[in-house]
Formats: sequence, structure tokens, C-alpha cells
Amino acid sequence: GQKVVLITGCSSGIGLRTAVTLAKDKQKRYHVIATMRDLKRKDKLVEAAGEAYGNTLSLAVLDVCSDESVKQCINGIEDRRVDILINNAGVGLVGPVESIPIEDMQKVFETNFFGVVRLIKEVMPDMKKRKEGHIIVVTSVMGLQGVVFNDVYTASKFAIEGFCESLAVQLLRFNIRLSMIEPGPVHTEFEGKMIQEVMQKEYPGTDPDTLYQFKTIYLQSAINIFEIMGQTPDVIARCIKKVIEASTPRFHNLTNPLYTPIIAMKYADETGTLSVQGFYHMFYSLGPLLNVTAAVMRFSSFLKRRTVSPD
Ligand code: NAD
Repeated sequence: GQKVVLITGCSSGIGLRTAVTLAKDKQKRYHVIATMRDLKRKDKLVEAAGEAYGNTLSLAVLDVCSDESVKQCINGIEDRRVDILINNAGVGLVGPVESIPIEDMQKVFETNFFGVVRLIKEVMPDMKKRKEGHIIVVTSVMGLQGVVFNDVYTASKFAIEGFCESLAVQLLRFNIRLSMIEPGPVHTEFEGKMIQEVMQKEYPGTDPDTLYQFKTIYLQSAINIFEIMGQTPDVIARCIKKVIEASTPRFHNLTNPLYTPIIAMKYADETGTLSVQGFYHMFYSLGPLLNVTAAVMRFSSFLKRRTVSPD
């Protein structure tokens, strides 16, 4: 029969595209429960789903930050059966650490870390009983490698990677698979929100040099990086579908070949010096050369070896 797929954060971006891609599977192998906090934001999804809406795709309310909302949503599903759980909802946060209230940092963890944990806690016991299931978590390249001015976001993604790396071992015993999806930059609302935030927000308590590094150098390189290396949400959705359909899905799944050297650098030098120094030079001296570097890398097809590809 059809597999029940529950996806969080489907009103935009990767969640929306993944919901539509799975719901439009030619062999109709999936019934997608596309969830979002507020159904008032359903229009883009409904439009993109076309005929799948009401057939292989249905909608439900789910706020990953609320115990009650998560319980209510899962209890509303027939037999509480979720075969494939896709944890996609997430929020970004950039800025100098000294300017960010702890409360704002906690909100990021509440969504990106506890939001995922909350869903896994609710769905996993039933998967264990059925001795079957697949849990997908959309983390990020920043779940594997720290990036300047993304300290807290990166920490939240590292946190969930660590949680899942631990859990994956136990889950093997129950035939439950666990896979991380680790995209680089993706053109979604995430990107616009980040750029707007940097330009408009105040960063009190930050010294002028740091503020300049952030508001000028970081912002410009972030825009460049999105422009040069950005993937579409559709590519990520197809990568996710491929991971779901793999007979032996991998735990780590980078989606962007351009990032494999960065991860390789991390594992090549266990002291961490290569990564920290490498990033320092990339950010502070090579900034202007980034375009050239990336253009060269783009044509290096050998980089694809270590990634999951959409086709
Ligand atoms: P997006 O902002 O378009 O989508 C994120 C979705 O999560 C939104 O629809 C938002 O409403 C939803 N959401 C936020 N808080 C929620 C909550 N409490 N409950 C339910 N839904 C909530 O951005 P996106 O790029 O599609 O992000 C999807 C995932 O991909 C995130 O986990 C993000 O960290 C990750 N990611 C994004 C990028 C990128 O560059 N865009 C790169 C790597 C990883």
C-alpha cells in the first residue's frame, strides 16, 4: 500500500517542494501529510500540488515548537501511522554573538533541535512497534562545519546531527532508518529573510570592526555564495526522494558537490587547524576571489562522488 509521509514546514521552500514531489510520484507510492503552523499559508502549496491535493496530498496543522500541536496532529492520523517522517521546519539566525539575546538563541534551538526531537519522540515508538520506518532530518552543511556569524544556527544543526548519530545505532535494531539531508545554500525564503535581517536589524553592543565584518564582508560573501552555489528547492526535494527510495540509505547526504572539499578538509586534519585557518583566509583574504574559485569548482564533476544527486 501507500506509504504515509509526514513533512513539517510545508508552506514554503524545501518542505513545499518535497511535499509536491512525493505527492506527484508517478506510481502514487506516497500519501503526503503536508503540515504547517498556519493553514492560512496553504495557497502556494495547494496551487503547486494541483490534482494531487485531496488525493495523494492532505494538509494538517503542526507547530514543531508545541507538544500539544504535535500530539494532536499525530493522533489525527489513521492508526497514528507515519511510515516516513521528514523533519524540515527550521529557522536561521545570523549575527555577532555579543548582540544576540540568549532568548533569541533559545528560539532557534526550540525549532531546529527540540522541534525535531519532539516529533521523533512522538512517532518513533509506533515505528518501533511496526519494526519499520524512515526518519529524515533536513540539517545543513552547517550541521557538519561551522560558518562565521552563523554560530548559533550551526550549533543547533550540530546538535541535531549528534542526537541522530546516537539514535541511529539503536534504531537499526528496529529496522528504522535515519538519514540527514545536508544542503548548502538553497534559494528559498530563508535566503531573503537572512539578507533582510542583516540589512535592517540593529546589532547593539557590537564593536565597529565586528559590525563591519558582519554587515559588509559577511553579507556580500553570503549573497555571492547563494548566487554561485545556490541550489533550488526542487533539487533538494529530488535528493530527498532518492534517499527515501534507496535500498540502503546513507546517514549523511550532502546535496551540493561544491561543499565536499570543505568537509574533506575537516576530516583531513583532526587538529582542526586546517578548517579554522582555511576559513579565516577564505573569509578575510580570499573573499574577492570567491567567484573565481567557485566557478572552477562548479565544473569539477569529480566532486559529485560524495553527494546524493537528484537523478
Ligand atoms: P523556508 O523559510 O522557506 O522554510 C522553513 C519552513 O519552516 C517555513 O515554511 C516555516 O514557516 C517553517 N517553520 C518555522 N518554524 C516552524 C514551527 N515552529 N513549526 C512548523 N513549521 C515551522 O526555508 P527552507 O530553506 O525551505 O528551510 C527548510 C529547512 O532547510 C530548514 O530546516 C533549514 O534550516 C534547512 N536548510 C536551508 C538552507 C537554505 O539555504 N535555504 C540550507 C541548508 C539547510
